[in-house]
Amino acid sequence: MSEHIGGCHCGNIRLRFSTKLDPSQIEIRACQCAFCIKHGSRALADPDGRLTVSVEDEARLHRYRFGLRTAEYLICRGCGVYVAAVTTDDRDPRAIAIVNALDDRLQFSREPVAVDYDAESRASRIARRRARWMPVEIRSAFTG
Ligand SMILES: [Zn+2]
Repeated sequence: MSEHIGGCHCGNIRLRFSTKLDPSQIEIRACQCAFCIKHGSRALADPDGRLTVSVEDEARLHRYRFGLRTAEYLICRGCGVYVAAVTTDDRDPRAIAIVNALDDRLQFSREPVAVDYDAESRASRIARRRARWMPVEIRSAFTG
């Protein structure tokens, strides 16, 4: 496993992405939904890897939801950086990490693939994320 560290700008939210894959081989997805377009976000996940999100101050973590509300988009209230998205539909949450939030973002060098999921049903969206997103753990300094 290699580890890729990152987080928001002010340090309230930290990311640790663990993967056996070489960063240059990992698919980068540029979601074409209105939210991701506005952030210019490029996302990654390794279903066999893992993401750990560590939050210093939960009150400064905004969990934005929209559309089908099957995921939360984690945005720091302190510095405004969007760092990851996490599913909310089951007890086994899955996540994507935002490439630009990782310190070694330049290692993830594949050309982004534009993806558009607007026509997806709720059931197929949940199934896709379960298959393609990665296991995630969210740690808070206050909730342990
Ligand atoms: Zn921040």
